[in-house]
Amino acid sequence: MSIASQVKTSLEDVRRVLSSEDRCDIIVESLMRGLDRLRALYRSSRSSFSQQDIAFLKQVRDVMHAIEEFEPARESAREVRTLDEYEDARAALTAIAERVRGAAVARRIERELADLIRREKTFSNSAAFAQPIKPSPLAKLEAQAPRCDCGEWMTLREYETGYFWGCSTFPQCWRKRRLTREEHSLLDPR
Ligand SMILES: [Zn+2]
Repeated sequence: MSIASQVKTSLEDVRRVLSSEDRCDIIVESLMRGLDRLRALYRSSRSSFSQQDIAFLKQVRDVMHAIEEFEPARESAREVRTLDEYEDARAALTAIAERVRGAAVARRIERELADLIRREKTFSNSAAFAQPIKPSPLAKLEAQAPRCDCGEWMTLREYETGYFWGCSTFPQCWRKRRLTREEHSLLDPR
C-alpha cells in the first residue's frame, strides 16, 4: 500500500473512532495508536499530508487530551456539595464538552453535565449544611497545604511525635517544613 493510501486509511480510522466510539478509554487508546501511526508516516513522507490533515490532527490531539480530562472532571462533579464546587464542576465539564464537540463522546459528557445541572438545587452555599460530616482536623489542615519550593504541594507526614510538611513528590524532592504554631493549633484545638 502506498504511503498516501496508508495516510488516508489511518485518517479514516481516526475519524471513525471520533464519530462512533463513546467509551473514553477506548477512544484514547485508539487515538493514541492512530496518531503514532500517522506520526511515523509523516516522518517518512510529509508531502502525503495536506494542510487540512495537519490541522485535523492537531484538533484530534486536543480532543484526546480533553477526553483524558473528562474522567477526573466527572469524579469531581459527582462529589459536588456546595454551589461554588457546582460552578467549578459545571465550567470544567462545559469546557470539555466544547473541545470534543462533534465527536460521539460529546453526548456522554453532555449527559454528565445535564445530570449535574439537574442537581443544582440540592447544593448549598452554607459550608455547615453542605458538609454534614465534619472534616477531621488533619483533613482541614491538609486542605491548607503549603507549596514546596519546588512548586509542588506539600503534604502532611507523620513522625514519632507529630506531623511535618513533606513534599508530595517525595522521594524526588526531599524538602520538608515544620508546622507553624497556627497549624499546630488546628491539629490540637485546646
Ligand atoms: Zn518539593
